[in-house]
Amino acid sequence: MKYIISLFLFSNFIYSQNQIKPNEKEVWDPEPKVVDPFYFNGIPSDAIILFDGNDFSKWKSVRSDQKVLWTLNIDKSMTVKPGTGGISTRDEHGSIQLHIEWKTPKIIKGEGQYRGNSGVFFQRRYEVQILDSYNNRTYSNGQAGSIYLQHVPLINATLPPDTWQTYDIIFNAPEFNEGGNKIKNGSFIVFHNGVLIQNAVEIISPTLDVEDNTPYSLFLQDHGNLVSYKNIWMRKI
Ligand code: MG
Repeated sequence: MKYIISLFLFSNFIYSQNQIKPNEKEVWDPEPKVVDPFYFNGIPSDAIILFDGNDFSKWKSVRSDQKVLWTLNIDKSMTVKPGTGGISTRDEHGSIQLHIEWKTPKIIKGEGQYRGNSGVFFQRRYEVQILDSYNNRTYSNGQAGSIYLQHVPLINATLPPDTWQTYDIIFNAPEFNEGGNKIKNGSFIVFHNGVLIQNAVEIISPTLDVEDNTPYSLFLQDHGNLVSYKNIWMRKI
């Protein structure tokens, strides 16, 4: 009897050693901050609005460092004014979630890279291409949704010209040590019209400029085409 009891206690001991107590995997701190995902016009409550169609107060012309000369439209959008140069946000940014809406011109002009070309440059260096890639073949790592000359989009989700389209982009900025040397490459996740087109791709090198630990701002390209933008907001990561 004694033997049976001790065997029972021993097996219970072994059993309890192999069990994870339910509360051991629970994490209570930190508690995620409450964010209203549909706070205003479908924009989360912690978003920074970069362009709502009212003015260019968050932007400057990169050519003059001053006034933006692009066209402000009645439908709360803006359109590139060819020849006036790109525009950039006044503030620099690190890792962000960006929402941006864009459309390529109704009147189809040009071929390949000359049709509806613009681009969103993160930290003024890394371009997510904007192009009229609707029935417009060009090199795959230069079409809409490519990380320009680096990563081909997984699919082509481009809508016809004169149709509003969305990009939702996660940009993880590269990391540098105190000496200014890069210790980790940046990366992109991109959704085009809600469809995944870049799945955590590594940013090997900048599209423009040199790569260092200066963050710089968000930049929209003047490539000579009448591309329009609206409803631009970001969230810091
Ligand atoms: Mg471009």
